[in-house]
Amino acid sequence: MFHRSALALAFLLLFSSLAVVPVGVSATGHNGTEGPTQCLNPASHISTADTADDANYRVKFTPRLNGVVVANYTRLDIWSRSTVRLSLPAGYTVESATGFDVDNSSNRTGLDFNGETDDPSFVYQARNVEHAKSGELERSIKPYHDSSTKYATSIIPSHGGGPFLVEFPNGGHIGSTLMRVGPVDRVETISHGCHTIEIVVPEGADNEAVDRSIEQLTTVQRSFKGGGYNAKATLFVHPDHNNGFGTATGEDVVYGDQWDQKADGLSTPVHEYIHTRQHMDVSKDMWWYIEASASYHTARSLYDSDHLTAAEYDYTLAQFTRTNSSGDLTNWRTWPTEQFPYDYGGVYLSVLDADLREATDGKSTMKDVFRDLNQRDEVDTQAFARSLQRHGLNRTQADVEANLSNPNELTPAYQQSEPIVNDLIREPYTNSNILSCFSTIIFYYN
Ligand SMILES: [Zn+2]
Repeated sequence: MFHRSALALAFLLLFSSLAVVPVGVSATGHNGTEGPTQCLNPASHISTADTADDANYRVKFTPRLNGVVVANYTRLDIWSRSTVRLSLPAGYTVESATGFDVDNSSNRTGLDFNGETDDPSFVYQARNVEHAKSGELERSIKPYHDSSTKYATSIIPSHGGGPFLVEFPNGGHIGSTLMRVGPVDRVETISHGCHTIEIVVPEGADNEAVDRSIEQLTTVQRSFKGGGYNAKATLFVHPDHNNGFGTATGEDVVYGDQWDQKADGLSTPVHEYIHTRQHMDVSKDMWWYIEASASYHTARSLYDSDHLTAAEYDYTLAQFTRTNSSGDLTNWRTWPTEQFPYDYGGVYLSVLDADLREATDGKSTMKDVFRDLNQRDEVDTQAFARSLQRHGLNRTQADVEANLSNPNELTPAYQQSEPIVNDLIREPYTNSNILSCFSTIIFYYN
């Protein structure tokens, strides 16, 4: 009894500062009706003001060639004593600065307004590779620009001393961690309950591929409300990429518009969107789950919403086993390829999903486990096994670890039968169109 009231109190405290639920809005989940959805504004790198009256500073972001961004600041409230403190992640370089002291001593570049002018400005390069770190894994994220074009999809410099009135004189759009600096053709909005997906479409993007991703995301958003209370995910389409790259940072995503040229039937926009719904804190032995759940649930959600036929779905699962590599999913040092957790982790989730559906007569699925894990503080293999048990699948921690140690011994849970890959029209999978994704769940830059 005590625990229950303590929990209720904790929820009350948590929700008392949240935005008001819009009247008449209630969310309907996959398995019936849920309560009203609570919305929380995503954490942002910059506190934005709607009007100049509310802002201490105005900042204008304009693009130059080669992924260079110019940031011009104007102090609007001369009485404001707040000082501007900015920082850029490692790998971003400041080309020039006026009115700022630049500090390169740490692994990120700091800029402090020094009061020498009311109109400070700085020019920075979004071109360089950004380093992000997740636990012990350090990875480089590909740049989001084409060297010949005058735009950049860039990390927003972290701003202190706001609020700021943000403007893009040459076009642009701001998310919470990423922004597009340069012409934007349109912004599509998909809403369900109080959750919104924005798709920022620049000039020159493949509109057919964009429309297809909107169709997919609309159904996936409805069926896949995985945890978290964030109100908005912003997906930036990046044109002229002929592979399926994508990256999620917090609530924001950037992906190449040629994702549907990939042969695997998977959708980069949906994969990255699922990352924005992951708010679970996983321990090292569960790192595999981040990419595996994005990978598997992309396939399964597309199949459930009729974007993939049963044969295509089976084909996609078969692609997960295309390389016969051994590794232990619980130990990232043994992973033979970057693709290993996506593929063999995906195979394992397909097996667990089939077993769970069979054990519960279809009442529970691995999406329920996903939502459950989103509520946990630290998810390790023991917590994962417990979550399976809670939802009706009897698996011990030892069972889970045995499977995770040798996932290439598992057969995907096909809907029909093991597919004959050559029977399908799609081109065979090649390395050149492997999904390139790194989800910075623990995003060190904030
Ligand atoms: Zn991913």
